[in-house]
Amino acid sequence: MPVTAVSPAELKQAAAAIADQLTADRRYLHMHPELGFEEVETSRHVVARLSAMGVPHRSGVAKTGVVATINGTAREPSGRGKTVLLRADMDALPILEEVDAPYRSTVDGKMHACGHDAHTAVLLGAAQLLQGRRHEFAGPVRLVFQPSEERPPGGAIRMIEEGVLAEPSVDAAFGLHVTPQLETGQLGYRVGAANAASDRFTVRIIGKGGHAARPNATVDAVVIASHVVVALQTLVSRETSPIQPAVVTVGAIHAGDASNVIPGEATIAGTVRTYDSDLRQQMRERLGELAGGIARAMRAEAQITYSLGYPSLVNDAAMTELARLAGAEIVGNENVAEVEPTLGGEDMAYFLQKVPGCFFRLGTGNRARGITYGNHHPKFDVDEAALPIGVAAIVNTALKFLATAK
Ligand SMILES: [Zn+2]
Ligand SMILES: [Zn+2]
Repeated sequence: MPVTAVSPAELKQAAAAIADQLTADRRYLHMHPELGFEEVETSRHVVARLSAMGVPHRSGVAKTGVVATINGTAREPSGRGKTVLLRADMDALPILEEVDAPYRSTVDGKMHACGHDAHTAVLLGAAQLLQGRRHEFAGPVRLVFQPSEERPPGGAIRMIEEGVLAEPSVDAAFGLHVTPQLETGQLGYRVGAANAASDRFTVRIIGKGGHAARPNATVDAVVIASHVVVALQTLVSRETSPIQPAVVTVGAIHAGDASNVIPGEATIAGTVRTYDSDLRQQMRERLGELAGGIARAMRAEAQITYSLGYPSLVNDAAMTELARLAGAEIVGNENVAEVEPTLGGEDMAYFLQKVPGCFFRLGTGNRARGITYGNHHPKFDVDEAALPIGVAAIVNTALKFLATAK
């Protein structure tokens, strides 16, 4: 089996040598957060940095996205010609930052609280390392700077529609996400479902209002909505295999505003989380049947809206093994963790529906320095010492794929 010409030790050294640049990029992006599909300055920064490196790229993909391709020029021993894609997301969140640091957000009410600033900085670092070594590997590496991960329908699906997986056709995709649940120096991997599908629903019960003392002349929307809420509990407890994870939560009920009036309408709203795509479909169908059937049986009507969020993110077994080996060559076996799946959504899932790959976690926690707050928290921060590790890990993963793919 051919191996990469570039050694992991050398990659580690090269990534460490650009640590200041990685921190500078991350801080610039952190100070200038932009929401989904509004990443104008972010995109401009990415373009400027790629131009300075001499990396060919295209901007304006999926509105504010940037796509670059670095062609390895080493002669291939067996004409494999595989293409690998590396992805970073670029958007921030509508959160007022509470981190007191010189690189604090300069935009009130917007903050890089999910670490997408770090993802973008890491991918720029990867571009720099790959561009400098393109005579040492064979095959194209496509770098995708994706807009709008935080808000469904998200930027990934639009980038795919605009052709980022084609010309040349992409064979595998990799990406990473920062997490304070792992310390700096650690990497986390998981085979199979790693992020849940996250869908939302509302059920509007339309009955007939009236006097509280004459219930027989009404169709009581409160009583019907209550039956629906109780019945929805059986979707998981009675209809789903006990070994399949699923959650149905009703998070809101709204009806009526007086103690002596029976309301003619009630609305319930909630969320459904699943990992399995068949189960996801089943939940959607059964929720509609159950709510509609109960309403009809009780002389009311149910209007149901069901919004699909991102699908479950599924890591390919072989690609995860490859990524895990590549990661272990950077941080050592003892610093590679098996991570739990999360119920948070992630639109990298769309890339991994189309091509095999792995989305892994980069430890950016640092208990000693108080960097422990979770993603989306106003005090969320990233230990910048982890940035070079992210660069070395993702570059080593890409090169290992290109060197070993058949
Ligand atoms: Zn997020
Ligand atoms: Zn995120």
